[in-house]
Amino acid sequence: MHELSLCRSIAGIATRAAGGRRVERVQLDVGHLRQVVPETLVYCWGVVCEQTPQLAGSRLDVTSIPAVLDCRRCGAETTLTGLPIIVCSACGTNDVAVRSGEEFLVRSMDVATTEGYDRDG
Ligand SMILES: [Zn+2]
Repeated sequence: MHELSLCRSIAGIATRAAGGRRVERVQLDVGHLRQVVPETLVYCWGVVCEQTPQLAGSRLDVTSIPAVLDCRRCGAETTLTGLPIIVCSACGTNDVAVRSGEEFLVRSMDVATTEGYDRDG
């Protein structure tokens, strides 16, 4: 499953970034053009967490980023809601620039502070 392998790479990023601390929450931005189903991603995250003690009980928050196209011919702005067909909705050309929708990044994460001190960074 596509989403499962994505979750495995997110888990790798998160555990490395946490540096041995327990991960409580990961916030992920996913663009519409990635064709990832957020619900499936969250389900797969649960599967990965069961196999990764450092991630046990953590939550994955997925933010869907809409796909926005800028038309180079007529200047119209198109927001894709259905199938990711990269054409201008105003004039139908595929001569468009993708402004957003290709994101796939860990925006932030929360880690447990079991050491009992509070320090920035
Ligand atoms: Zn156009």
